[in-house]
Amino acid sequence: AVESEDDRLDADINVYNRRAMQMDLHNILTKHETVPLIFVKVINSHMIERMTHSANVDVSSACAEYLKTVVLRYQIYHPNSTTFVLFCSNYNEEQVKELSDKISERFNGIWALGETAYVLDAVVINTMVPKDIQSVEDAFYVADTVIQPEANTDKTGIDWIMHCADVERAVRRSVYEKNFEVYYQPTYYLDGYRLHGAEALVRMMDDSVGYISPEEFIPVAEQLGLIEGIDDYVLREVCAFLASGVPKARKMECINVNLSVIQCMRPGFFEHIVGIVDSYGVSHSLINFEITESVGAENYDRLAVVTRKLKDAGFSLSMDDFGTGYSNMEGIFAMNFDVIKIDKSLLWGAEKNPRGMTILKSSVNMIRDLGCQVLVEGVETAAQIEILRDLGVDFLQGFYFSEPEPKERFLEIIAS
Ligand code: C2E
Ligand code: MG
Repeated sequence: AVESEDDRLDADINVYNRRAMQMDLHNILTKHETVPLIFVKVINSHMIERMTHSANVDVSSACAEYLKTVVLRYQIYHPNSTTFVLFCSNYNEEQVKELSDKISERFNGIWALGETAYVLDAVVINTMVPKDIQSVEDAFYVADTVIQPEANTDKTGIDWIMHCADVERAVRRSVYEKNFEVYYQPTYYLDGYRLHGAEALVRMMDDSVGYISPEEFIPVAEQLGLIEGIDDYVLREVCAFLASGVPKARKMECINVNLSVIQCMRPGFFEHIVGIVDSYGVSHSLINFEITESVGAENYDRLAVVTRKLKDAGFSLSMDDFGTGYSNMEGIFAMNFDVIKIDKSLLWGAEKNPRGMTILKSSVNMIRDLGCQVLVEGVETAAQIEILRDLGVDFLQGFYFSEPEPKERFLEIIAS
């Protein structure tokens, strides 16, 4: 196909556009050539736009002008507004390294944009076609992946990014094939170690990427807009378990189900949840929803409306991960939680030093004064239980009693 050079150009900054990158990479791949690609991703341009309140400060053209001084214009591609890709055919490994070091150094320096000086944070990623990048999709995945400014360096390399791509594929496949299993971890009253209930924790059963913890794949599912499918699956499993009557026969008072805040804020969420639970004929009081509030403060009002509806309908409510970066006093004020779950890091911190102990003790006192019950997660040793006994918490959860296990194994454990 013959196409005009104009169609390949990003007219504003005079480098190749996304379509040109797609065509040229496709050619390289079909000819089985080996070509180094350097990705330059500016990760703080949104911040600069916010600081200047204007789009006049043109980060892209400043970057393009600089890159034209280190490589030839027709080696530079601009697949999206914050990414440049340099096609380094005929460069050897050493030259690629030298070039990428030089670019990294320049980006960490001062840039005069408009009338002000800024530091542009950029991540420079060296890759090789076809070793690292085996398809045009791979290249666009690297180009379009958002790298958080706070990501540490082992989470900005090509291996990590391609691992994320694998996780994404596994999540999509698993949601489609319903490749999940619900594990249960028991919770106990501190007083007499009576069984209180259990937390339902999802596991992804995808062989191609091996075990991936929910801590890793849940945020990915949230980003892909697939979390609803997972949370619904877990809720249905839990409802079927409750409807079987087995939990009640084993004296379990409730089962805790984690909810993604993103899902809670969707229109029609409440009706959707009630619809699922009622279709199993399960009493609402047997379900406790755990919410980690990771939303911005401006959304507390909306979240509070949903949580109030859930409470009014007879469900109970826990705040998850209290004491981590996610939990926030405003969240506690805005929502009427029955139970606050203190994160394991607070318990483990209390064991390590007196300041940690002060934080744990004050947290427990504050939560009790607010009229909520306290559950502490991450209980692994008898010594920790002694600490918690002195503080007078209500419930315990942790590996000391049991790890999360598949339903049958969980039932054996609580029976014993
Ligand atoms: P979480 O809700 O805070 O769940 C508690 C996590 O702590 C679980 O990790 C559990 O295995 C772990 N844990 C409990 N006791 C101990 C202990 O004594 N020692 C240690 N080291 N760890 C302990 P898991 O199962 O990997 O889940 C991680 C997170 O993923 C959960 O944190 C929750 O936020 C999320 N998650 C799990 N299942 C679901 C789900 O169905 N839906 C949603 N939206 N999120 C889920
Ligand atoms: Mg939880």
